[in-house]
Amino acid sequence: MQHRSGFINLLGKPNVGKSTLMNALVGERLSIITPKAQTTRHRIYGIINAEDFQIVLSDLPGIIEDPGYMMQESMMSFVRTALEDADAFVYMVEAGDSPEKQPEIYRTIQKMEMPVLVLINKMDKLTQEKVQEQIDLYQNDFPAAKVLPISALNGFHVDETLQWMLAQLPAGPAYYDKDAITDKPERFFAAEIIREKILMNYTKEIPYSCEVTIESFKEDEDIIRIRAVIYVERDSQKIILIGKDGAKLKKVGIQSREDMEKFFQKRIYLETFVKVLSNWRNNDRSLRSFGYRE
Ligand code: GDP
Ligand code: MG
Repeated sequence: MQHRSGFINLLGKPNVGKSTLMNALVGERLSIITPKAQTTRHRIYGIINAEDFQIVLSDLPGIIEDPGYMMQESMMSFVRTALEDADAFVYMVEAGDSPEKQPEIYRTIQKMEMPVLVLINKMDKLTQEKVQEQIDLYQNDFPAAKVLPISALNGFHVDETLQWMLAQLPAGPAYYDKDAITDKPERFFAAEIIREKILMNYTKEIPYSCEVTIESFKEDEDIIRIRAVIYVERDSQKIILIGKDGAKLKKVGIQSREDMEKFFQKRIYLETFVKVLSNWRNNDRSLRSFGYRE
């Protein structure tokens, strides 16, 4: 059989289950899955490889309705690029959601010329009857698309999703090495793991005012030494982040190290520092250095 390869984009509101699906398809824990919104800020590729195909998947930031911060505008520009530049497009919604909340994205998808798959995820939460109602609703709104109810978490219709993707791929060579599962460097995942722990351990605006960078990542035979810096916007946030006698930050460090050891399959020595970088979310240079801008 001829080799096939292509790019497929995945779009949907935060929390509908995009990362869960991608991880189910790629079979490794690539994106960070947490119950809070907007955890995936970057465009992450997951690569699904087999002998005769390669699918490059991108898991996009959730659609931001009202770009208030400059950071959110940068996220929207990733989204816009993705709408144009792919072989196929997967739009994920959550079972039971009301679709008319996203009129702009809806119209854009309806006008698309590339093949579209609408996935109604979390069907495990609805009765069979309700699922059918949702299928009818979306099929009516997207007459040219294939509409499929799935449960990314339970693996239901995940294989059908893969089969649909395969059918959209043109003939062509692999874009990445076949043993690659992502184009992101390892230190990216180290930062993502810390970011996830911050999301889990703090409330309100704290997680969204943090950015994590990895200053050094040194791999030896039996240990990886990682120095991470967490940037916040204000002194008051630094105090909250560190906690009384450093207890809160220590907890983040321990949880991160445990996850990193699983992810990298190696012992980890992790140091974390907190620095204040005033107003980084509205600063062009900091956004650039954190990778939100090219
Ligand atoms: P993303 O923001 O679209 O990437 O969403 P995530 O993949 O991070 O998932 C958000 C939340 O929905 C997590 O708590 C997942 O465990 C949960 N979730 C994902 N897929 C399913 C599903 O099929 N059924 C149910 N019940 N929950 C799911
Ligand atoms: Mg995600």
